Amino acid sequence: MPTVGFHTLGCKLNFSETATLNRQFQRQGFETVPFHQAADVYVINTCSVTENADRKCRKTVKQALRKNPDAYVLVVGCYAQLKPQEIAEIPGVDAVLGAAEKFRIFEFIEDFRKSRQTSVHRCAIEDTHDFVPTYSTEERTRAFLKVQDGCDYKCSFCTIPLARGASRSPQPEMVLEQALALQAAGIQEIVLTGINLGDYGAGQPWDFRQLAQLLDAGLTVPRLRISSIEPNLLSDEIIDFVAQSQRFMPHFHIPLQSGSNTILASMRRRYRRELYADRVAHITARMPHAAIGCDVITGFPGETDALFEETFEFLHGLEVTYLHVFPFSERTDTLAADMPGEVPVAVREARGERLRMLSEKKRHAFYNRHVGQTRAILTEQKLEDGYRTALTDNYIRVLVPPTLPGNTLLPATLHELSATGQHLVGEVTSVLA
Ligand code: SF4
Repeated sequence: MPTVGFHTLGCKLNFSETATLNRQFQRQGFETVPFHQAADVYVINTCSVTENADRKCRKTVKQALRKNPDAYVLVVGCYAQLKPQEIAEIPGVDAVLGAAEKFRIFEFIEDFRKSRQTSVHRCAIEDTHDFVPTYSTEERTRAFLKVQDGCDYKCSFCTIPLARGASRSPQPEMVLEQALALQAAGIQEIVLTGINLGDYGAGQPWDFRQLAQLLDAGLTVPRLRISSIEPNLLSDEIIDFVAQSQRFMPHFHIPLQSGSNTILASMRRRYRRELYADRVAHITARMPHAAIGCDVITGFPGETDALFEETFEFLHGLEVTYLHVFPFSERTDTLAADMPGEVPVAVREARGERLRMLSEKKRHAFYNRHVGQTRAILTEQKLEDGYRTALTDNYIRVLVPPTLPGNTLLPATLHELSATGQHLVGEVTSVLA
């Protein structure tokens, strides 16, 4: 049986797409092996947001060929759409497939035989209109279901619209059908993912809230979660709907990027900090226990010390639970790459470090606020340091005894922070009694 190994760089969406490619290969009679083992074919799913995408791609190709110098190496993903020629020149790469072509591998490549010539199949991004439904699963506990792809926004730092094309999404009924299949497979939590998820249904007579309502009513799966949603698209109606839903978890991830209105304007974001603060206030008023995460970029061009302090102070005073911090990095073909006011890389990093420390403090404060409470946890299949990991409805990571079953919803009393500070220790009294 021919073998295939996959390596994914980037976001949850890329992972869900790799999982779908994996299923395509299996249907064609391939056996999947871990990427670090010898395989006949290697598929590398790239990301354009990853820093040094070129270097990472080269390194990964080399790793693959070290395991099997005769392996057929196929590169897909955002970076493949943006720089196909650059990838084609990497020694050992056999084929490059763009955004519209990556789910049609078996139409383009018949025998997976190495040749001297790298074949490139990639059409212009303007011609990429298809929506290909994909999902990945984390050991049958949680599934990441793609319900939207592409983006019509033009944030000045972002290459995603160039790599993935215009915003598009399937009909709500089609999403429900897929979610039902995941539910039937025993998945306990479905995470709705997309590039610009709140834009679901753009140009169609339905929107994200209607999708959420349909899934809420049509599924019995205990948990649904929204992965990430732009603040300007997170309406009061969506927040209110989540607040009364038994199935949608009280957890929002809302990209902020900067707490300075000057920088937000320069980033071409479609909101100002006041709107963001208003969204957070509405969530905490309706769901005081909700987890709220946000993305922040440090060292964007023109971010002076004073403007960074604005961001720091804004976040310091905001009821958010955790931050994902990214130092700014220039991407070719973006407006931000040529903007004046470049911030030295060391300053970008130092600001990032300050925000990461703030994030830890906020997360610990949120965790500590829940000590003594009993909340529903979903146990996972994996063990960490001899404990089973679990997740509460509101995104608190919990450690429970390894003897408890995985993939199970249980009530747990939350105790102190674990030794690493990454979890709360949970006690499942009703099962242990
Ligand atoms: S909303 Fe902005 S940052 Fe997000 S994918 Fe679209 S252009 Fe990129």
